[in-house]
Amino acid sequence: MSYQPHGKHLIAGDRIASEPGWASSPSSGPSHRFSTGSPALIAQACEAAERAFWSFGYSSRAERAALLHAIADAIEARGPQITEIGCQESGLPAARLEGERGRTTGQLRLFADHILKGDYLDRRVDAALPHRQPAPRPELRMMQRPIGPVAVFGASNFPLAFSVAGGDTAAALAAGCPVVVKGHSAHPGTGEIVAEAIAEAVAAQGMDPGVFSLVQGGKRDVGEALVQDPRIRAVGFTGSLTGGRALFDLCARRPDPIPFFGELGSVNPMFLLPSAMAARGEAIAQGWAGSLSMGAGQFCTNPGIAVMIEGPEAQAFSDAARVALGAVGPQVMLTDGIADAYRKGRDRVRGSAGVRELLTSVCDRRNATPYLYEVSGDDWLANHALGEEVFGPLGMIVTVRDAGQMEQIARALDGQLTCTLHLDEGDTALARRLMPVLERKAGRLLANGFPTGVEVCDAMVHGGPYPASTNFGATSVGTLSIRRFLRPVCYQNLPEALLPADLA
Ligand code: NAP
Repeated sequence: MSYQPHGKHLIAGDRIASEPGWASSPSSGPSHRFSTGSPALIAQACEAAERAFWSFGYSSRAERAALLHAIADAIEARGPQITEIGCQESGLPAARLEGERGRTTGQLRLFADHILKGDYLDRRVDAALPHRQPAPRPELRMMQRPIGPVAVFGASNFPLAFSVAGGDTAAALAAGCPVVVKGHSAHPGTGEIVAEAIAEAVAAQGMDPGVFSLVQGGKRDVGEALVQDPRIRAVGFTGSLTGGRALFDLCARRPDPIPFFGELGSVNPMFLLPSAMAARGEAIAQGWAGSLSMGAGQFCTNPGIAVMIEGPEAQAFSDAARVALGAVGPQVMLTDGIADAYRKGRDRVRGSAGVRELLTSVCDRRNATPYLYEVSGDDWLANHALGEEVFGPLGMIVTVRDAGQMEQIARALDGQLTCTLHLDEGDTALARRLMPVLERKAGRLLANGFPTGVEVCDAMVHGGPYPASTNFGATSVGTLSIRRFLRPVCYQNLPEALLPADLA
């Protein structure tokens, strides 16, 4: 049976309605009305989260692991309903929503296993040296502790894996931090049904209901109030550079600034080195076209720029990419706003000096079709805006004079989530030259692959220097992401009876 959203906020287990309501804009299926969030509702959710922290922050790892498993089970129990409403709201196909649900429950369970192992606590003990001269040393113990209530903002392009029960929520709950989610206006019904699953699991585990709340949006002051609430200790955000930067600035301007972990946009450049281009340039072009147009190009890891040395191989590459992208039909975008922004981005690129359009199409209403452009290394270097993300299936080939100019392009890049090298053995010397530059630019470096598809595992880094993220020391995907919601506490000379159970 289809899920019928009640349209209310879910604050500490209670369904709360508020006026005025707003109507969702699904790409298909019925529109529903949702309550509008407000600063007062945010305050209510944050108060409940702060109250819950006094028990949840001191719960055992086994209790929190059980909660994470229970949330995964409750999401799976609603699987077909989540897929149906998720497809309607986002325009994404069912297979994608199903895959994303598996990823979401998989990461909840991964965090359960991760905290049970205990390594994340990073426990350290410096034994007392009572006879040390000239001064004795007391015993010092250190452990990571949860920081308190965490605010979460999901992105429109991952209505499950980067949303209400996504990586930020999973990491925060695993750490022992209650979560207040600001619902995304692009998928409010999907957010609601997932929130219901979390609230059910919290209740079934006998935990304080303030451990989790969802406040729907509808107005910008909802998110602004959330990041400024004095009880919130950190923010996990996935979304646009503009939105992320506005909220980051609000966090920094608080009387007590808090960390804002924003995962923002990226153009994910690929560097195509000469031997690889000669051996398999056309195959790489076809792979690129697939990666670039997958999900209407609405991935933060979309490889928007391909850098290569000018010549016949570059020509063959662009011919093959044009053919492959030309065969991709129109795809529905996530929201009308994202489709508008895509067209604006296209117009900006199209109107830039030296840019040649290799593939054009009609892209109207909420549909996206691919575009392909080419620009010389000189013109790209002269126009910093050509390195900015266009969210959608738009590719740009940058043809450089030589290896030296390729390195110049690498040096001119802003921070990235990923950088990719396509190389063969004969390219090793040039790749070695690029590596130290690329390592300073990106959170993840790839060889001979495409960056779309982010593995959820221990070694993953999904982050990077600004503007890819607002905190280059962090990742929003993988088990290391739990560190964002922990802080080290040192216990000096404390009697055993006062130490946290995990440290005693
Ligand atoms: P978005 O428009 O920035 O929205 C994200 C959230 O922030 C929404 O809840 C939105 O509220 C809120 N928001 C945006 N601007 C705000 C402001 N000025 N004040 C208060 N709240 C604000 O992002 P999106 O369109 O959902 O996501 C697409 C972008 O996310 C792309 O650029 C993509 O590259 C990036 N992305 C990054 C990653 C990553 O891991 N780095 C992953 C996925 C996507 P409303 O609901 O009211 O709009």
